[in-house]
Amino acid sequence: MKTKNWYDYLWIISIIYFSLGFFNIIFAWFGLIFFFFPLLIAIFKGKKSYCNFYCERSKLLNLIGDKFKLSKYRTMPKLLRSKTFRYIFLVFFMAMFANMIFLTFLVFNGTKDFSSFIKLVWSFKIPWEQNYNFAVFPKWAYQFALGFYSMMLTSTIIGIIMSILYKPRSWCAICPMGTMTQEICKLKNK
Ligand code: SF4
Repeated sequence: MKTKNWYDYLWIISIIYFSLGFFNIIFAWFGLIFFFFPLLIAIFKGKKSYCNFYCERSKLLNLIGDKFKLSKYRTMPKLLRSKTFRYIFLVFFMAMFANMIFLTFLVFNGTKDFSSFIKLVWSFKIPWEQNYNFAVFPKWAYQFALGFYSMMLTSTIIGIIMSILYKPRSWCAICPMGTMTQEICKLKNK
């Protein structure tokens, strides 16, 4: 039997992250760690160690698909596996990220009112009423948290659906973080 390493249990981080955000959305800011950590490893070490060992999402997908045996283990359609789709998805994802930053900026400079909803799959607005404490955190900080949580939740839901339909880590084939770190490593190791 394969010995488990401490990082095999990192799926717990995903559960903790989404649970904390459910009770207080400001915790969504911690998601930036999942965003910058892989990039910094790729930039400074030229390695995809994050993907290979520490990614909490891939651990969660393995748990759902492999351990809970929910995966159908089908091969993904060719289109989803293609490089072109991977890059198009990266561009789309980054455009959505930029849009979220822009919305945060509008709330920051008072052009737009704070709106308490999360957006699933970049389309469905779900009201997200919590005890927002604007005396402690400014409105823009909450707006960013809602946007970032939406992104994290959306990509996790897509990842879980792909994990069930295809192989446990099928999401990794189109994951924007994976694509970015791969390109950085290629440049770094040229
Ligand atoms: S490709 Fe994305 S989901 Fe997969 S291991 Fe890398 S960062 Fe995690």
